[in-house]
Amino acid sequence: AKANPHRRTEFYRTELCEQAERQVALTKLLRKAVSKHQFRAHYQSKHAVEDGRLTGYEALIRWQLDDGVLVSPAQFIPVAEETGLIVEIGRWMLAEVCRQITEWRRLGYSFGRVSVNISGRQLTDPEFVTTVAEIIGKTGVDPSDLELEITESWLMVDPERSTEILRALRGMGFKLSIDDFGIAYSSMNYLKHFPVDVIKVDRSFVRDILTDRDSQAIVSAIIAMGHNLGREIVAEGVETRGQLDMLRSAGCDEAQGYLFSRPVPPEDVERARRMPLRQ
Ligand code: C2E
Ligand code: CA
Ligand code: CA
Ligand code: CA
Repeated sequence: AKANPHRRTEFYRTELCEQAERQVALTKLLRKAVSKHQFRAHYQSKHAVEDGRLTGYEALIRWQLDDGVLVSPAQFIPVAEETGLIVEIGRWMLAEVCRQITEWRRLGYSFGRVSVNISGRQLTDPEFVTTVAEIIGKTGVDPSDLELEITESWLMVDPERSTEILRALRGMGFKLSIDDFGIAYSSMNYLKHFPVDVIKVDRSFVRDILTDRDSQAIVSAIIAMGHNLGREIVAEGVETRGQLDMLRSAGCDEAQGYLFSRPVPPEDVERARRMPLRQ
């Protein structure tokens, strides 16, 4: 039988409505989440590819509803970006990580550098740099203990403006990295101008590095080019020893992924950090 085109349209309309309704419901919950203290930061370790020693952590936000259900950032960050709520959520997250760093310093733990994800939508907030300066001032954190991760796709929306903001942040002493590198469309020219310290190779390339020659070639090229520009290269999503070995032979500097650890709550970091990193 032939498909009825009207029925198909109806179907898509219902789908779209349901999606829109879910979006509205999620937005309502999200709006209250900050004041209800439903966010937490989890931490995933980063390691030197050479010998596996700990070099730092990436802070990743977690949202827990009152009934205990965890909502994935992959689900709510895009909604937070569309609604602009990311500005407040991002401010909370940075303040929380700064608070945590001060506490870890006070307790004498060694934790390396902690990176925080900054949405490009936050960068478009004219108050962003001021807000960051305020948080740093209030918590007394040394900005060089922090790394700010910004995705390549956002940087490329307005490269000139991005460069300006990156300069200001770097001037304050932050380390900066380009996140999810390789999947957007950076021209080499912009890469040269973005004042960043670190390039993070997107997980999709790492996933296929042993099975797909193209992914392997892309990763090798990013590493070679990054090093020529004086950047450090971090590979994310490393799950197997084989992937790590391949990254080592390609000259990658640091790696993070389930092979080392999943993102964990701060209590778990503390249990591991009561011992000094190394003498
Ligand atoms: P991302 O910044 O690329 O973070 C890496 C994601 O990969 C994290 O997912 C992490 O849990 C996951 N991951 C780490 N190692 C592995 C691995 O070996 N295998 C696999 N399959 N996955 C791995 P998560 O925590 O669900 O976060 C998803 C995305 O949400 C992040 O991607 C980031 O774009 C965004 N996000 C998370 N926290 C924040 C935040 O505080 N602010 C902003 N703006 N975005 C955030
Ligand atoms: Ca990241
Ligand atoms: Ca990433
Ligand atoms: Ca990502």
